[in-house]
Amino acid sequence: MTTPKKRQLKCPHCKKPVLKEGNAFFPFCSEQCQLIDLGQWLDGGYTVPSTDSPPSPEDSPEDN
Ligand SMILES: [Zn+2]
Repeated sequence: MTTPKKRQLKCPHCKKPVLKEGNAFFPFCSEQCQLIDLGQWLDGGYTVPSTDSPPSPEDSPEDN
């Protein structure tokens, strides 16, 4: 059996190879991927019920 010591990790977003050492954005490859992934989380992936602000029926005008 071959057990490589160095495991090749990949960015969860763009699937590019990521190094853990010295990577401030681990497990992402870059700040951009980290922000994008977090953005998806906050945007719709993980919806936390909030009692503070009711959901607005309007669509977001920022459609980029
Ligand atoms: Zn990436």
